[in-house]
Amino acid sequence: MNNDIYDLAIIGGGPAGLSAAIYAVRAGLKAVVFEKLVCGGQIVNASKIDNYPGMPHVSGAEFSDKLQEQAEELGAEIIFDEVLCFSKKEDVFELKGEEIYNAKAVVLACGAAPRHLQIPGEAELLGKGASFCATCDGRFFEGKDVAVIGGGNTALYDALYLADICKKVYLIHRRDEFRGSKSAVEKLEKLDNIEFLLNTTPERMLGEKKLEGLEVLQDGKKRTLELSGVFEAVGSVPQGAALNPNLKTTEDGYIKCHENFETSIDGVFVAGDLREKRLRQLTTAVADGAEVVTSVQEYLAK
Ligand SMILES: Cc1cc2nc3c(=O)[nH]c(=O)nc-3n(C[C@H](O)[C@H](O)[C@H](O)COP(=O)(O)OP(=O)(O)OC[C@H]3O[C@@H](n4cnc5c(N)ncnc54)[C@H](O)[C@@H]3O)c2cc1C
Repeated sequence: MNNDIYDLAIIGGGPAGLSAAIYAVRAGLKAVVFEKLVCGGQIVNASKIDNYPGMPHVSGAEFSDKLQEQAEELGAEIIFDEVLCFSKKEDVFELKGEEIYNAKAVVLACGAAPRHLQIPGEAELLGKGASFCATCDGRFFEGKDVAVIGGGNTALYDALYLADICKKVYLIHRRDEFRGSKSAVEKLEKLDNIEFLLNTTPERMLGEKKLEGLEVLQDGKKRTLELSGVFEAVGSVPQGAALNPNLKTTEDGYIKCHENFETSIDGVFVAGDLREKRLRQLTTAVADGAEVVTSVQEYLAK
């Protein structure tokens, strides 16, 4: 049992959680961050970040190290423990990990992990041609042939983005029509370097040191595409909604919140990729982390 009562417990040491920690300690709050793996979250896996304003050419690992260093230097406590659940007892939250922790307010910053295709070759080729982020990695495939897998808006907008950079983009979807917006589909239809492969499922990624192709099943027939890149856009899996049964979520499991980031539980806030939002990126995660602290301060002052 940890006997401290923190003003704020932040669950998740990714960009949203660490930004919240930085703002919290600078606001004079006794804040703690719980991280189950390594600080930095999803971005640790990015070889290069090029779209974070003011910091071009930085690697995900470098960005994560700096963020952790900054939070710790300013006085945030980081505890490497997985929070398994939390509940409210009177006005104090009890969080259960390897120990029991207490805090007056909670920020959920557990993020979302991209859904994997779980096909042979995928695990070995992630970061070697297989990617979850067209915005981040698209530039590495300039003038090359790539495929985007998925039928929702992320897949459609990834394909539009990549069509500007790559020689050819196959858009692969397992159903006979896309789930995403009609206008995006219409824009894609007008492009010469896009080929729709509907009723098609990816079966195997090919290549050893780097991705060289993708085996698909199109209308039940096997076909091999020669490719340099495969972008997976088959959704993401939010983490954290299961920590308390009273958290309201969208159908996909993202946490619903008010404009001030407060969830369906009084005193529990959400920031970053875990919340219902349109753009899941570093800039939006760190912005959430900064802003959520103002709401936490208002709550604590009540
Ligand atoms: C390969 C890749 C490349 C990307 N490249 C870019 C890019 O170039 N530019 C860009 O803007 N965005 C990029 N993104 C997206 C960006 O990384 C995310 O938008 C951002 O990391 C979201 O931050 P977050 O803090 O909300 O969540 P996350 O980064 O997901 O962090 C959540 C953290 O919470 C921890 N956690 C979860 N549950 C618990 C628990 N119960 N207890 C304790 N800890 C827990 C996790 O271990 C994780 O460290 C990329 C994503 C990926 C996967």
